[in-house]
Amino acid sequence: MLLTIETTHRPATDLGFLLHKNPDRLHEKSLSFGRAVMCFPEADEDRCRFALTVEVDPIGLVRGRAPGASLHDHYVNDRPYAASSFLSVAIARALNTAFAGRSKHRQELAETPIPLAVTVLPLAARGSEDLAKRLFEPLGYEVETLAHALDPALPDWGASPYITLRLEGSLTLRELLTHLYVLVPVLDNSKHYYVDDDEVEKLVAKGAGWLEQHPERDFIVNRALKRRRRLVREALARLTEEDEADDADEPARQDEAEDALERPIRLNDLRMARVTEVLAASGARRVVDLGCGEGRLLRELLASRQFEEVVGVDTSLRSLERASQRLKLDRMPERQAARLKLLHGALTYRDRRLEGYDAAALVEVIEHIDQDRHPALERALFEFMAPPLVVVTTPNREYNALFENMPAGALRHGDHRFEWTRAEFESWAHGVAERFGYALHLEGIGEVHAELGAPTQMAIFERGRQ
Ligand code: SAH
Repeated sequence: MLLTIETTHRPATDLGFLLHKNPDRLHEKSLSFGRAVMCFPEADEDRCRFALTVEVDPIGLVRGRAPGASLHDHYVNDRPYAASSFLSVAIARALNTAFAGRSKHRQELAETPIPLAVTVLPLAARGSEDLAKRLFEPLGYEVETLAHALDPALPDWGASPYITLRLEGSLTLRELLTHLYVLVPVLDNSKHYYVDDDEVEKLVAKGAGWLEQHPERDFIVNRALKRRRRLVREALARLTEEDEADDADEPARQDEAEDALERPIRLNDLRMARVTEVLAASGARRVVDLGCGEGRLLRELLASRQFEEVVGVDTSLRSLERASQRLKLDRMPERQAARLKLLHGALTYRDRRLEGYDAAALVEVIEHIDQDRHPALERALFEFMAPPLVVVTTPNREYNALFENMPAGALRHGDHRFEWTRAEFESWAHGVAERFGYALHLEGIGEVHAELGAPTQMAIFERGRQ
């Protein structure tokens, strides 16, 4: 699949600065499912064109799949070729700086609308013929689509779902990348990874400023979240929440409680409940949630009187902001607010603010950290913070085979750097326990599959109880 981005802004070669790619070179980024190759077929003052191709390893998609579905479906499909959620991941990973709206040398330009033209091909547009127009025109693009025949030699076979999409508009590069990131999988109507609560967060964050008022908002949200009703409901509520009264949250909370009671119980709830239980059972009073994200664990911890001090740490300011909103920090009674601290920090550096606590949790975070940074994380956590209790959870990669629609080799989230099998996690945990003098206990969270284990794996490290 091919994506090209072209500008006539002058000097057009500034596109290289905006994309953080030198136009004279070939660039390559390896991805969990293949690789992205990038270059600039044209780069002069008047016109500059950037091209990105994504190569998906078709064998990797099949290897290790759960038996059951037909082998044909595994091997004979368009995933390696058509633009899809793989392209979205490639945009987020290979063009991460531009995707975040940053530019080291041209920040002002990154924030300025410039003339941009885009081609994506081939792109599966499943649904009505004018779908691409309905999605992109309201965002100010001129849209052109070229339908491809199933087989040009056999016109009787009619049209395929594939089109070449061409968009032109004047907007910032970040806006353009964000629109593609969200809308390409919507056109394709599929995602290669498991869609859960995090996908709601991503959609709300990436949709900020354009999705709220989009005439096709409901359609986009439904497809982006694979029509999972609870997720769609939450995303729509958040995209339209603006000035709704605060107490409007109450029914939502009741829904959540109801959802939690329903079977099958949600994995995320189980995880938070089990981690809270382990922390509580240790008698800990002052606890740190490392990589707290939007504060799902913090909320559980605050609900228990046992914890006198609860600290959330994250590198993402946006997540901390969300955590503070979700926990309604500004309206919390003073005594309650005094128990909570939100800190901006990176877990791969020693941080004296985090020393002296009774326990630390690292819930679904380690897989977001590149493995070459693990030694730094391990020292910061087990040598310097060194709390008596550390609880780590991470996905069990083997279990992925049970997720519908998730090709082998793919990871549960676009931002995961890896996912461990049970043996890999166990060996990592044993190594750490041994090196830093902790006793280790391992367990699974969620429904256990006889061969593949539980969806989440957890390690409990305890110091001084060898
Ligand atoms: N623990 C939360 C969030 C998991 S998502 C939950 O289970 O809901 C992973 C989180 O780790 C993200 O919020 C991300 O910003 C954070 N993170 C990733 N790398 C980090 C690092 N090096 N230092 C601190 N936080 C990090």
